[in-house]
Amino acid sequence: MTRVDLIEMNPSELEGFFRGMGEPAYRAWQVYRWIHGHGVLHFSEMTNLPKKVRSLLESQTRIVSMDEIERQVDQEDGATKFLFRLRDGETVETVLLPQSYGNSVCVSTQAGCRMGCLFCVSTVGGLGRNLTPGEMEAQVLIAQSELGRREDGARVSHVVLMGIGEPLENYDNVLVFLKRIHEKDNLGISYRNITLSTCGLAPEIKRLASEALPITLAVSLHAPNDELRNRLMPVNKRYPLSELLPACREYAERTGRRVTFEYALINEVNDLPEHARELSRLVRGLLCHVNLIPLNPNERGLEGSRPDRVKEFARILENSGVNATVRRSLGGNIEAACGQLRRRNGREKS
Ligand code: SF4
Repeated sequence: MTRVDLIEMNPSELEGFFRGMGEPAYRAWQVYRWIHGHGVLHFSEMTNLPKKVRSLLESQTRIVSMDEIERQVDQEDGATKFLFRLRDGETVETVLLPQSYGNSVCVSTQAGCRMGCLFCVSTVGGLGRNLTPGEMEAQVLIAQSELGRREDGARVSHVVLMGIGEPLENYDNVLVFLKRIHEKDNLGISYRNITLSTCGLAPEIKRLASEALPITLAVSLHAPNDELRNRLMPVNKRYPLSELLPACREYAERTGRRVTFEYALINEVNDLPEHARELSRLVRGLLCHVNLIPLNPNERGLEGSRPDRVKEFARILENSGVNATVRRSLGGNIEAACGQLRRRNGREKS
C-alpha cells in the first residue's frame, strides 16, 4: 500500500484527509502544528491525538518521504552532512551548519542538476528531477530534529538554498517551500534569514524580484568576463553578464537587499590580479557583496587557489571599494562540496 505523505499536504488538504478517515477537521490542525510548527517527526510524540488516530496514521501515512542513508560530521566546525534517499530512489544531500549567529541548513532543491558548471560534482550525472516543496521542507525538519525540539531552544534559524540543484529551475515548488517555512504556524523563518543561490537564470531573477520577498539572492559568478564564464558555467551562453548584471541590479532595487556574488577561487584559472580588477569594474555601483571561497578539492580535477593568491585577490577588490569577504569552505573535512557524497554513493535508483 502506498502511504500518504503528510508533509506534502496544506491545511485544507489535511482537513479533507481527516474527514475521509471519519475524524473531525481540527485533527488536521493538530497534526499540521506538530509537524510543521514543532518539527515532530514521530506520531508517538503527538500527545494530544487519541491512540487510535495515531495508530491509524502510523499504518496509512508517513510524515517525511525520505530516509537517511549516510551522514558525516566535521569534528572541526560541527557541520553535519546527510545523504537522503527519496521515495523513488533519487538521492539528495543536506548540510546542517552551526554558525555563530544560529543554525543554518543548506537545502537541495533538485536531485542532480543540468546546469553543467565545470567545477561542480552535482551536475556530473545530470538532472534526476525537481524536489517537491515537502521534500525540501523535510530536509529542514530532519535537521531541526537533530537539534532537538524547537521549544527547547535550539532552532534552525537560517535556510540556504545552496545544496544540489538550481533553485530557480524549480521556481514554483521553491516558492511554495519558502512561503511555507516563513509562516508563523510553520517554522516561522524570517525571509531575511533565507538565501537563494542561483547560477544566473536572469529571467527568473527578475521574476523573483517581482515577488518582493526580502530574501538574499546569492549569484554564483565565478568569472569576471563572458569568455571565462562561458568556459566555467555554460549557463552564461544563455544569459551573459550583460543580462545577468542588470537582473541583479533590478533585484537589489526592488527588494532593497544587497546581492551576494559568490566567487570560487580556482588556482590559476580565475584568480589572477587582472580578474580581480575586472570584477571590481563589473560590480561597481551595485548594492552587493563579494564572497571569495577557495574551491573545495573535488573529483573534477580543479584546485582551490593558494592562500597568497586569495589574499592578493581580496586586497585588489578592497582597494577598489568592493565589499569582499574571504570565506573558508565549511565542512571541508566531510566532502561538503555539493554533490560529493551523493556521487560517491551513486545516484542509481534502488
Ligand atoms: S553549481 Fe549549482 S547550478 Fe552549477 S552545476 Fe552545481 S548544482 Fe548546478
